Amino acid sequence: MIKHDIVIVGGGLAGCRAALEIKRQDASLDVALIAKTHPIRSHSVAAQGGIAASLKNVDTEDSWEAHAFDTVKGSDYLADQDAVELLTKEAPDVIIDLEHLGVLFSRLPDGRIAQRPFGGHSYSRACYAADKTGHAILHELVNNLRHYGVHIYDEWYVLQLVLEEGEAKGIIVYQIRTGKLEAICAKAVLFATGGYGRVFNTTSNDYASTGDGLGMAAVAGIPLEDMEFVQFHPTGLYPVGVLVSEAVRGEGAYLINSQGERFMSHYAPSRMELAPRDITSRAIGLEIRAGRGINLDGSAGGSFVYLDVRHLGETQIKSRIPFAWEEAHRLLGIDAVTQPIPVRPTVHYCMGGIPVTTDGQVRQTADTLIERFFAAGECSCVSVHGANRLGSNSLLECVVYGRRVGLSIAQYVQGKDYPKVDLTHYLKQSENRLGALLQQKGTIRINVLRQAVQDCMSESCGVFRSESTLEAGLTQLQLLKEKYQELYLDDQGTCWNTELIEALEMQNILIVGEIILTSAIKRQESRGSHSREDYPLRNDPDFLKHTLAYYKNKSTNIDYMPVVINRFTPQERKY
Ligand SMILES: Cc1cc2nc3c(=O)[nH]c(=O)nc-3n(C[C@H](O)[C@H](O)[C@H](O)COP(=O)(O)OP(=O)(O)OC[C@H]3O[C@@H](n4cnc5c(N)ncnc54)[C@H](O)[C@@H]3O)c2cc1C
Repeated sequence: MIKHDIVIVGGGLAGCRAALEIKRQDASLDVALIAKTHPIRSHSVAAQGGIAASLKNVDTEDSWEAHAFDTVKGSDYLADQDAVELLTKEAPDVIIDLEHLGVLFSRLPDGRIAQRPFGGHSYSRACYAADKTGHAILHELVNNLRHYGVHIYDEWYVLQLVLEEGEAKGIIVYQIRTGKLEAICAKAVLFATGGYGRVFNTTSNDYASTGDGLGMAAVAGIPLEDMEFVQFHPTGLYPVGVLVSEAVRGEGAYLINSQGERFMSHYAPSRMELAPRDITSRAIGLEIRAGRGINLDGSAGGSFVYLDVRHLGETQIKSRIPFAWEEAHRLLGIDAVTQPIPVRPTVHYCMGGIPVTTDGQVRQTADTLIERFFAAGECSCVSVHGANRLGSNSLLECVVYGRRVGLSIAQYVQGKDYPKVDLTHYLKQSENRLGALLQQKGTIRINVLRQAVQDCMSESCGVFRSESTLEAGLTQLQLLKEKYQELYLDDQGTCWNTELIEALEMQNILIVGEIILTSAIKRQESRGSHSREDYPLRNDPDFLKHTLAYYKNKSTNIDYMPVVINRFTPQERKY
C-alpha cells in the first residue's frame, strides 16, 4: 500500500493550485497529485476567454462589491453570498500571485494586465492571455509543482473513494500504462476532478470530462448539490459543439438570425450579446424554434444562428481572438474575417457538484461534514455560481478556492495520523470488478451504449425541459443502465486499455445522468439555466434553496439546504 500525507485527484487548475498552496504552507508535507490525463491536458488547458477580478485596470469604478453583485444576480440568487464575497474579494490578489508565478497575461499599452468585458459582468474585468488563458495559467502552475516536489501520478485512473465511518481513508487507483491496481492511503483526500460535459451528446468539454469524481462521491453516499443546473454555452461551433469563446462577444461580435437581425435586442436590450449565458442560450433556442435559425445553404429555418465578427477587422480578430479564428478555419473551413460563424448552444459547465464549505470540506448533510475529504473546482459546489455561472468566474473559482482548500488541508493534517483502514479488501473488490467487466460476454460495444445515453440526456434535459421530457428521459436512462451488463470489451490487455477506462467512465456518466434528471424533475420552477416549460417562473417561496441528491440505484432521494443570503436581496432578474 502506498501512503502520502495528502492525495489530490485532478491535475487541472483547482488541483494544481491546491497542491501549490499546501507546499507553500508546509514544504515538508508529502503531496501526491493523480490525474487520468497528463495534468497539462486537463480541461482547464482549453479555457479561453479570461479570469475575472476587479483589478480596475480598464474600468476604475469597478469594485469587489460590484463583482459580487453581478455574480449573485447572474446566479439567479441561488449562489451562497458568503462564498461569493470570498471569491470576489480575493480575486485581485490571486491574479497578481499568478502573474508573479510567471503567467503571461495580455497587456494594456502601459504594461498593466489587460481586461475585457464578459457576459453578465457590468465592468471590463476578465484578465486574459489572448484567447488561451487556461493554457497560460495551467502550464505555469504545473511547472511550479515540479519545483516544489509534488509527486505527480499522470495517467492513473482513480476508480474508488474509500469512505468508512464518515471519513475518507484513501483511494483505489489503476495505472493506465501497466494495468496495475494500487491502494493509496492518505491523511486527507481532495477531489478536483472537473465537470461532466460528456454526459451529453454535444459539449464543449474534453473527452475526460465524464463526472468521475461526482460518480465516485455519489456511490460513497455523499450527496450532490444543485445538479439540475447544467450550463449551456450559447456559442458552440455548429455542428461539432466545441467552444467559440465568450471573448469573441467580449471583443464585440454580433449574434444574427436568418433575417440578419441582432435578435438579442428582444431578450436583453441593455446587455445585448453580453447577456448572461442562460438568457443568451434560451434566446438562440427560441429564435431557432420560431424558424429564424439558419441552414448551411444560408436559408431560414435551420438549427443554428450566426456569430459575426467581420466588422472587427482582421487585425483585431487575429490578435485578440486568434484561437477562435483558427478553430472555425480548421474545423469548418470558414474564414471569420470574411464569413460569419455558425453557432448554437452546447453543454459547457456544471454549476452543481460535491457540496463543500468555504474551506473546501465536503458535507454529508446540510449540517454535518465528512472527515478528511475535500473538493474544489468544477466538481465541487461551494455555490458561487448558483443557478447560472458568469463567464470567467470558473477559472477564478479554481484559483481562489484551490488556494483556500490548500490552506485548510495543510492546517487540517497537522498532528493527524493516517486513518485506520484495511485497504487490501477494497483492492480485491476493485480487482474483481475489473475482472468481471473484462469477462462480460455481452453483445453491445461501449460507444453504442454511450451514444444512446448521451442522446437520451440531450433530448430530455436540454436548454428547455418539462416534467414529461425529464420523466421520459429517466425511464429511458434506467433501461439503458441495464444494458451495461450486456457490454463486451474487445481489449483484454493491461497496457493502455482505453476501452476498459471508457467502461469505468460510463458507470459515472450513468450515475451523474440519473442524478441530474432526478434533481431537475423535483425543481418545479425556472431559475437560471434550469428552464421548465411547465413552470416558467422563478418560485422563491418554494425553491430558493439548494438541492441535495443522495444517489440510490433507481431511487435517488432529494433533500434541500438553505441558501446563504446576507448582502443582496433577491429581485427580479432583468438585463
Ligand atoms: C472549452 C472551454 C473553455 C473555457 N473557458 C473558460 C474561461 O475562459 N474562463 C473561465 O472562467 N472558465 C472557462 N471554462 C471553464 C473552466 O475551464 C473549468 O471549469 C475549469 O478549468 C475546471 O477546472 P478543474 O480543475 O475543476 O477541472 P479540470 O481542468 O477539468 O481537471 C480535471 C482533472 O481531474 C482528472 N480526473 C478526472 N477524473 C479522474 C479520475 N477518475 N482519475 C484520475 N484523474 C481524474 C483529470 O485528468 C484532470 O486532470 C472553460 C471550459 C471549457 C470546456
